[in-house]
Amino acid sequence: MGLLGAHVSAQGGVQNAPKRGAELECDAIAIFTKNQRQWRARPLKEEEIEGFKENMKRYGIKIALSHDSYLINLGSPKEETYKKSVEAFVDEIIRADQLDLPYLVFHPGSHLGEGEEWGLKKIAEGIEESLSKVPESRVMLLLETTAGQGTNLGYRFEHLAEIMDMVGEKNRMGVCFDTCHVFAAGYDIRSEEAYHETFDEFDSVIGLDKLKAFHLNDSKFPLGSKKDRHEHIGEGEIGIEPFRLLVNDPRFREHPMILETPGGDVWYSANLKLLRDLIE
Ligand SMILES: [Zn+2]
Ligand SMILES: [Zn+2]
Repeated sequence: MGLLGAHVSAQGGVQNAPKRGAELECDAIAIFTKNQRQWRARPLKEEEIEGFKENMKRYGIKIALSHDSYLINLGSPKEETYKKSVEAFVDEIIRADQLDLPYLVFHPGSHLGEGEEWGLKKIAEGIEESLSKVPESRVMLLLETTAGQGTNLGYRFEHLAEIMDMVGEKNRMGVCFDTCHVFAAGYDIRSEEAYHETFDEFDSVIGLDKLKAFHLNDSKFPLGSKKDRHEHIGEGEIGIEPFRLLVNDPRFREHPMILETPGGDVWYSANLKLLRDLIE
C-alpha cells in the first residue's frame, strides 16, 4: 500500500514538520530543509536537528524525504549559476544527512538551449562534483521524473538512465516517480494495460530497483502536454484508476508516496482519505 503522505511545511523550523504530518495522518512526509526560493540559508541548529529526530519518533512518521530548492540547476550553461547550484546542492545533501533523511529528491536540471546531450552530461558532472564534496554522506539522491516543460531534462526515462550511467557512484542514486510529470511527459498510465506498459518500460530502461519514491499528483493538463500543473487525485486528466493500482501494487508496498496536490492541508487530508479508501 505504500507509505502515504504529503509534502508538509517546515515553517518555524524543520522540527515542526513531523507534527504537521501526523495531523494529516501521514506515514511519510517530504520537506524543504531550507527556504526553497533562496540560495543561501543559515546552517541547521543542533536543537532543530534533535527536535526533528525526536518528533519523527514521537509522531510516528515512518520516513521523511527532502526536496531540493527550485533555484538549483545542475545543467546550467551559465558558469555562475552552475557553481551556485553545486554549492547549494551540497548544502542540501549535508542538511538531509544531518536529519538522517534517506532520500533527497531533486529535479535534474535544464539545458537552457545548449541541447539535451550537453545538458545530461552537465547534470551528471554537477552530481559527481557535489558527491565528491560529501564522500561520507549516506543520503541517496533521487532524480525526479519531469514533465519536460521548457528545456527541463528528465522527461524521458532514458534521460535518467543516462545521467545515472555517467555518475560514478551509482549506489548513491535513485529515482522519484511523479505521476503528474510522467503523464504530462507522455507516458500513459490511465488503464491497467497502460500502467503496466509504463512500469515495464521504466524497468527495462532504468530498473524498478532504482525506483525509491513517488509523488502522487493528478494532472491538470493532458497526456503529453509537457505542462507541470498538479491536480487533486482523481480530479484531473489521469483519473482515479492508476492511483488504485499504485496503492495496491505489491512492488511498491514500502515506497513513500507523497502528495503535492494544490490547496494546502485541508486538501491533503481529503486526498489522503481518498487514497486510503482505494486500498483493497
Ligand atoms: Zn514532484
Ligand atoms: Zn510538478
